[in-house]
Amino acid sequence: MQTIYDLTLKQMQEMLEAHGQKAYRAKQIFSWLYRKRVSSFDEMSDLPKSFIEQLKQEYSIEPLKEIQRQVSHDGTIKFLAELQDGSSVELVLMHFQYGDSLCVTSQVGCNMGCSFCASGLLKKQRDLTAGEIVGEVMFVQKQLDKEGRRVDNIVVMGTGEPFDNYTNVMNFCSIVNSDLGLAIGSRHITISTCGIVPKIREFAQGHYQYNLAISLHAPTNELRRKLMPIAKPYPLDELMQALREYSEDNHRRLTFEYILLHGVNDSDEMAITLANLVRGMNAYINLIPYNQVDENGYIGVDDKKALHFYDILMKHGVKATLRQKHGDDIDAACGQLRAKHERNKQSS
Ligand code: SAH
Repeated sequence: MQTIYDLTLKQMQEMLEAHGQKAYRAKQIFSWLYRKRVSSFDEMSDLPKSFIEQLKQEYSIEPLKEIQRQVSHDGTIKFLAELQDGSSVELVLMHFQYGDSLCVTSQVGCNMGCSFCASGLLKKQRDLTAGEIVGEVMFVQKQLDKEGRRVDNIVVMGTGEPFDNYTNVMNFCSIVNSDLGLAIGSRHITISTCGIVPKIREFAQGHYQYNLAISLHAPTNELRRKLMPIAKPYPLDELMQALREYSEDNHRRLTFEYILLHGVNDSDEMAITLANLVRGMNAYINLIPYNQVDENGYIGVDDKKALHFYDILMKHGVKATLRQKHGDDIDAACGQLRAKHERNKQSS
């Protein structure tokens, strides 16, 4: 069954007209869904009863069901939830001084095959619909409502490659960004991609105001090919060219994500090569501590090493940040909890 959250305002108006209802009711439904955040169609008291029955037949309003949750000592919460077809998705809620940030999943599994990542342990089964991703945010927002908190920021950095599910992800962003939706500002929404160049160009042409983050993880094409298969069809120089164009045309600052992997991409020489690659761009490098995945043998670096790498970047004229570790006592790395859950399902 399709979820009601799939519909953009325009699609909601079209749906209403197809049912012989007035288009203005789209705003009423949006208000019930995103302002009052009801959990059943029956609560939409200003809609005709017979139409409510039709909605119930055709759309679900709670597309996610909680399976499990893990709470970290630092306040990070990881949810494992089930979609209507039985697939499971992970959500991570992180609490920062500047607000609550939610990391959403865009696909069931992932086909990008990055060698350090747990998501790729389970190949892509399907794309999530826009409404399922909106449903992830609503699921968490309804929990936060109990404490008077709200999802302030969204990062599309959970399992899946958002630019491999481009249309649905962009519809998702537009629904949560809409004034009549959750009204989460576009500067508070970040999309992270492993580097699908044609989609970066399409995104650039759309002149969206969402933040763009690039999973770089290697400053040379040779190393990037080893870590990230996407570098084969889209080599580093092509990626950097598309990003320069995006950043200049849109006057937007880019974020490069760089996981520090011990003995792989953490040498002084790598830091200098990275600085040379990025210097001059309107960008900064976010150094990410590695959440260890048992299956693949990589290990992270200690704080001292991370700080040293950071210093080299700064000395060579590139802005960087050191991301705080979140949820390292729970299975917070993309795909870890879900991979565990699927394995347990198979063995039971
Ligand atoms: N496919 C998208 C978004 C999902 S991954 C992308 O590649 O950007 C989100 C980020 O988490 C990426 O930068 C990814 O490289 C990183 N990541 C994956 N596994 C990780 C791990 N075990 N520890 C830390 N970061 C990880």
